[in-house]
Amino acid sequence: MKKAFVVIFLLFFVVFSMSACTEKAPETIENKNFYKLNLVLNEELSSMSLYEEVTFYNNSEVEINEIVFHLYANAYRKEAIKVAYFDALTRYGGISINSVTLDGVQCETPNIYNEQILKVKCLTPLKPQEKITIGLDCSIDIPRANLRFGEWEDNVNLANFYPILAVFENGAWREDAYTYIGDPFYSETSDYEIAFTLPTEYTLAHSGVEMSKNQEKDVHTYNISCKNMRDVAFVAGKDMRYVTSVYKDTTIKYYYQGEKSVEEIAIATSAMATFSELVGEYPYEVYSLVETPFVFGGMEYPSLVFIADDVDIQEKETVIIHETAHQWFAMLIGSDSINAPWQDESLVSFLTNYYYELNGAHDKFESNNALLTKSFDNFIKLKYAENPDYDKNINSTLYKFNTNYEYSQVVYNKGALMFNKLYEVIGKKRFQKALANYYRSYAYKIASVDDFYASMSKGAGLDVKGIIEPYFANKIVAWNMEV
Ligand SMILES: [Zn+2]
Repeated sequence: MKKAFVVIFLLFFVVFSMSACTEKAPETIENKNFYKLNLVLNEELSSMSLYEEVTFYNNSEVEINEIVFHLYANAYRKEAIKVAYFDALTRYGGISINSVTLDGVQCETPNIYNEQILKVKCLTPLKPQEKITIGLDCSIDIPRANLRFGEWEDNVNLANFYPILAVFENGAWREDAYTYIGDPFYSETSDYEIAFTLPTEYTLAHSGVEMSKNQEKDVHTYNISCKNMRDVAFVAGKDMRYVTSVYKDTTIKYYYQGEKSVEEIAIATSAMATFSELVGEYPYEVYSLVETPFVFGGMEYPSLVFIADDVDIQEKETVIIHETAHQWFAMLIGSDSINAPWQDESLVSFLTNYYYELNGAHDKFESNNALLTKSFDNFIKLKYAENPDYDKNINSTLYKFNTNYEYSQVVYNKGALMFNKLYEVIGKKRFQKALANYYRSYAYKIASVDDFYASMSKGAGLDVKGIIEPYFANKIVAWNMEV
């Protein structure tokens, strides 16, 4: 996610100055989970039906007795304990599970349905390497909200709304609770086959490749294939159009309503080129950026990002660069955005600024760093004045932050400065090799913090952990500031 109150960056002319040697996209992984989604959006954009079939592979070494799903849509319920919204909504949302099948057989066993978690009990334990198919018949209420999930001004943002498998790791399911601070999502790379039916007056932007589109009376159905994605997202919009460009094997689509977006598609293409060359090839056929009503500035999903439609071109540029960098960090290389949000968010915040350095705008890179420093300095001085014991450790879980502003200052701003320090210490070449090796080693997989340190250090040829970790803590900072 890109915070709404970003430092405003000035637009400049893009100059390519990078080497032509691009790291190849890694191969995919074995035994991926497989989702079949059949979605029908109603005419009023207030509800949808979903039939979901998920084939889950037990890739662990232990038997599994129940399959666990996150029901993030229920964070939009009025009575939700963990909410996705800030103020009262004029219409609330949620998801109801009408029936459950296991390998095609109706489930009689009562399943635990704990607001935002669904636990489906297996009839017999699922042994290592076995698979099981869970069928979920669902009804979904769409809230009225300009959030990740919600209808607003002729658009519907559809992200984090369908039941998604929790991650089974270290012998247990990860059942992390929702929080409206940061991005509380963690999932595994899967394949998807999707049929999405909606009224013909709405265009659908989606993660994935459109296999076909059929029309029947006043609805049309998009048949979509998504390969190697850890999530999928959609935006349905009235009078929504797009412009395209191509970078290597990827078609870049910029969806907009209103005036044509010429500058935006140029920035998106430049960001795609810059990060492909820095980190490694982008493996998806399509990358869609969708302007839509959205309160946070931007939000990343595999192959599709939201771009807030109410920001000026300077902020939009920052958001486009930021969300594009996320395609590699947290989307292709999975990491724990709940317990170690810095692993993707701080790195992406640095890369958002480093983009300028890589494109020959050194002064802008430097002045942006100075702005970040000043912003964080002001924040931390105030915090210390309030409380001399204030904990500003970057390495905190999402649940340790009290506000999005605090999270933004610590994880985005201080975190970006931390990665800037790493870049300064190890230099351009080693930094690039570190990122390329991280990508080569963990694309489509989940990289723990230790995996991150090990693969970055191997690529750089020196110990990255020893440089990064001192900057997490309270008393050591990366710039001139007395604490
Ligand atoms: Zn972000």
